[in-house]
Amino acid sequence: MVLHTALKIQEEGQRAASAEISSIKFFAANVLQRVIDRAVQVHGALGVTDDTLLSYYYREERGARIYDGPDEVHKASLARKILKKY
Ligand SMILES: Cc1cc2nc3c(=O)[nH]c(=O)nc-3n(C[C@H](O)[C@H](O)[C@H](O)COP(=O)(O)OP(=O)(O)OC[C@H]3O[C@@H](n4cnc5c(N)ncnc54)[C@H](O)[C@@H]3O)c2cc1C
Repeated sequence: MVLHTALKIQEEGQRAASAEISSIKFFAANVLQRVIDRAVQVHGALGVTDDTLLSYYYREERGARIYDGPDEVHKASLARKILKKY
């Protein structure tokens, strides 16, 4: 998804890829959260201690769904871009 968008930006410019950019902002952050959550689960109780980096990643990367704008704002922005065509 990210590579496809990077290629579109390169070939057609940032404006043409604006819907893809909005999608990545919430989709990639949610993938990141799911992957870290699964890694915590695989480690069991160890995953929620500070003996591995996982609890640090979990705490820090949860912010990825907020610090570049909340998911809801990106989804609303993407919906407006898609609906504009109609
Ligand atoms: C680790 C971290 C680093 C940051 N770094 C920066 C930075 O470098 N530069 C910078 O400018 N800012 C930065 N921020 C701030 C960040 O941009 C804001 O936290 C973010 O935009 C959300 O604003 P808020 O915290 O005021 O939450 P609010 O705007 O109060 O939103 C709270 C919640 O309400 C909901 N919500 C908000 N708006 C809508 C909407 N329109 N539709 C539906 N639901 C909505 C969402 O669920 C959202 O999570 C950072 C934040 C964090 C946590």
